[in-house]
Amino acid sequence: MNMSNVDTWRIAIVGGGITGLTLALGLIRRGVSVCIYEQAQNFREIGAGIGFTPNAERAMELIDERIKVGFKRIATRNASDWFQYVDGYHEKGADPRTSEEKLLFRIYLGERGFEGCARSEFLDELVKLMDPGVVEFRKRLRSIHEMEGDGLRLEFEDGTMAEADAVIGCDGIRSRVRQLVVGEDNPASYPHYTHKYALRGLIPMTEAVAALGEAKCATRFMHLGYNAHLLTFPVALGSLMNVVAFVSDPQEWPHEQMTSVASKQEAVEAFKDFGPTVRAVVGLLPDELSRWAVFDTYDNPVPSYAHGSIALAGDAAHASAPHHGAGAGFGIEDALVLSTLLGTELLSTLSNDDQEVVKLSKRDRLRAAFEVYDTVRRDRAQWLVESSRIIGEVYEWQHPETGDDSEKCHHEAYWRSHRIWDYDVDDMVKKAEQMLLQRLRG
Ligand code: FAD
Repeated sequence: MNMSNVDTWRIAIVGGGITGLTLALGLIRRGVSVCIYEQAQNFREIGAGIGFTPNAERAMELIDERIKVGFKRIATRNASDWFQYVDGYHEKGADPRTSEEKLLFRIYLGERGFEGCARSEFLDELVKLMDPGVVEFRKRLRSIHEMEGDGLRLEFEDGTMAEADAVIGCDGIRSRVRQLVVGEDNPASYPHYTHKYALRGLIPMTEAVAALGEAKCATRFMHLGYNAHLLTFPVALGSLMNVVAFVSDPQEWPHEQMTSVASKQEAVEAFKDFGPTVRAVVGLLPDELSRWAVFDTYDNPVPSYAHGSIALAGDAAHASAPHHGAGAGFGIEDALVLSTLLGTELLSTLSNDDQEVVKLSKRDRLRAAFEVYDTVRRDRAQWLVESSRIIGEVYEWQHPETGDDSEKCHHEAYWRSHRIWDYDVDDMVKKAEQMLLQRLRG
């Protein structure tokens, strides 16, 4: 096809988190002009760890193989390729170096599957691949307006404007783009408190090993218990232990912000009935902690991820509780589908004499691409939001169908995890491409 007949787009990405950055890398690689508008002064990440499941790794690779190479460079190898789910509550022995948490079940991760890294290191790997000219900082989106003819105008809080053919909201759980497309009065504009919060920390591995012994630190453990649970895995090439301590909270979240300050004493209190291993991990957390309220979009899901020439991706589209460790991975899957559908490679597969397609306006082609994106992504992503809530209850022995029955908990954890990890990402891309070609050809 003569590509001069088919203009490519100017895409505005709002938000430079994992979704926005991977999407930008995917689009640039596919010949699309991109600008990221980020409200912060620079790229920054919190001091916490993150893990990526096999589907996310495959999506990284298909977006741009350098993303996966970058991740693997900083990913910390688990000592075992099995995810260990242990009873953190009833433990025999008092000394965490010798006490034993009963292994309830374990799930095979695949070779070097579900590895973790420090979030800041992953961000550095993404930023290294990005042309700095692609990003504008201190641009907090206020509104989006349709222009006469094709195109959208973005207005920022500092009074400046920008124009683009399309906007993709990658602006996270409290997305402004989501509010603009579904309406500020619509409950789907706002995430809800899941009645769990997380206390997160990175502990020097030398301290963790001294307190717990090598075996409890070298791989991924989920410590189950009543009304709370704790996840640990090694990051920073084994020099740090990532800790996420989840606690059930019957109260409403009282703050405007999603984080608040917590004292270590509160964490100690929340896990006081757990066994010595979990209590020792909590004891190693710093004295002053951040409490992260776990919010999600389960109660009022966004009805569509496509609204004309505006789309939503990542947490802006489907914020989920983090209990499957898959939220960012799903943002990367979104980025893969969007960059494929908007990329010039796909358009050039249409034959030269496909006049019907050439005749379609840029806006119609763009809208078709976003509608296909919505069709391909929404069911899977909404399912993750729901399943993350359920599995959080399973890990805290609260779910009415599983209780503290480890066989039933295993069954739930197994099929739900595999539905995430084993997803055929290549097939998703193929289906999305076919759907778009069919739609464009009428
Ligand atoms: P964000 O990371 O929220 O990025 C949004 C960006 O948009 C930010 O940079 C923000 O500054 C910017 N922005 C916001 N509003 C505006 C505006 N109006 N204008 C301009 N810019 C704006 N996921 C995993 O895959 N694996 C894990 O192990 C994992 N662990 C987790 C543990 C915890 C405790 C939590 C809470 C989450 C975890 N997640 C995990 C989920 C993961 O963190 C999120 O899904 C992911 O970070 C979402 O990325 P995003 O780019 O969509 O949004």
